Amino acid sequence: MDRYRGARTAVVVGAGVAGLTAATALARGGWQVEIAELGPPEATSGWGLCLTGPSLRALDELGLADTCLAGGYGMSTITHVDVNGEPAGEAELPRLIGERRPAMVGIARPVLHRILHAEAERCGVAVRYGTTVASVDQEEGLVRVRLSDGTVRKVALLVGADGIRSSTRGLLRLETTLAFHGQMVWRALVPRPRWAAGIHQFAGKADTVGLVPLSDRQAYVFLTENGVERSILPDSELAPRLRELMEPFPGRVGEIRSLVSESESVVRRPVLTALLEGAWNRGNGVVIGDAAHAPAPQMASGAALAVEDGLLLARELGRRESVGAGLQAFVRRRTQRCRTLVETSAAIVGLEQAQRYREAYPLADSCHRLMAEPA
Ligand SMILES: Cc1cc2nc3c(=O)[nH]c(=O)nc-3n(C[C@H](O)[C@H](O)[C@H](O)COP(=O)(O)OP(=O)(O)OC[C@H]3O[C@@H](n4cnc5c(N)ncnc54)[C@H](O)[C@@H]3O)c2cc1C
Repeated sequence: MDRYRGARTAVVVGAGVAGLTAATALARGGWQVEIAELGPPEATSGWGLCLTGPSLRALDELGLADTCLAGGYGMSTITHVDVNGEPAGEAELPRLIGERRPAMVGIARPVLHRILHAEAERCGVAVRYGTTVASVDQEEGLVRVRLSDGTVRKVALLVGADGIRSSTRGLLRLETTLAFHGQMVWRALVPRPRWAAGIHQFAGKADTVGLVPLSDRQAYVFLTENGVERSILPDSELAPRLRELMEPFPGRVGEIRSLVSESESVVRRPVLTALLEGAWNRGNGVVIGDAAHAPAPQMASGAALAVEDGLLLARELGRRESVGAGLQAFVRRRTQRCRTLVETSAAIVGLEQAQRYREAYPLADSCHRLMAEPA
């Protein structure tokens, strides 16, 4: 039986949303935690994130929701506009952290990472940048982890939180395939129009466009390009091409389009999903966040699952006598919820590809209601 041998020690791979929240929650539970992050410090850049109710609820449990609300833009509605530029309904999202606080927050990624990183460090977590895990061996209730700098750790727990292309997943021999869904998503940082006090989503004949406020001054534009091959465009072509894709949209999209030319940050990414079919853990190693379950961005809930994973991993480990039992309880608790979100997000992608928006919006709304249930 893999009872904890001595100190509760953990190596977490990846200082993203899942890794930083898991490290913080574990450190608060008495674990000594070290993070190996491949990138340099302050590497997070680009577009923003919408943190929906379940993210805020989990962040609130870590005492960080108010800091995120102060660093971002709190809001509660999603306004849908049809292909003719006419209103097609407004969804009020559930306020999961109380009626006096907003249902969600738009936040720039670097701001969120600074908040999560500061809290992890405050809790005593050591973050090693420019470092990854080179090899993993399981030895009688311990994991022997060799880092890329040649040093070795013998720890009670290894957590792979290294994103959709996780290499920890491979080191633990947990295999999955990435699915490309024939969509490319665009993001661009723009000044916030005064009327944008919530999320706006505009249906088009071929694509969809929207706007998410990030602060009083900033917002990000999102565009989903349907029926395209996976490809990479040179940076110099990104803003002009995004403006071209927005040209057919009527109404307010014209105003948003004019803001894109001022944007210094336009990114384009393939819509990918990933889901581990079997276990997420082997021995005393486990994968969490996008490494285990990466939804399409349409549900804006990948970060919610990542924060919940971090919290619940620490909670389940804290309740059990051994790491193995804790990991089993954690995976049992998470599998169905994460599967539902990934599969629903893929179904929404399919409806968007077929321009069946009137079916896509209620499906997204009902999935948001499901996600509002306790994790
Ligand atoms: C275009 C787009 C828009 C999105 N919008 C939203 C949204 O609005 N709301 C929302 O909730 N979700 C959104 N998501 C999903 C969300 O970004 C992810 O679900 C979330 O970031 C997952 O967190 P993570 O920590 O698991 O992975 P990541 O955020 O990918 O973090 C992984 C970390 O691991 C590091 N790493 C990678 N490989 C290694 C390695 N070998 N060794 C060490 N470190 C490594 C990376 O540098 C990174 O820091 C969006 C996704 C995309 C692609």
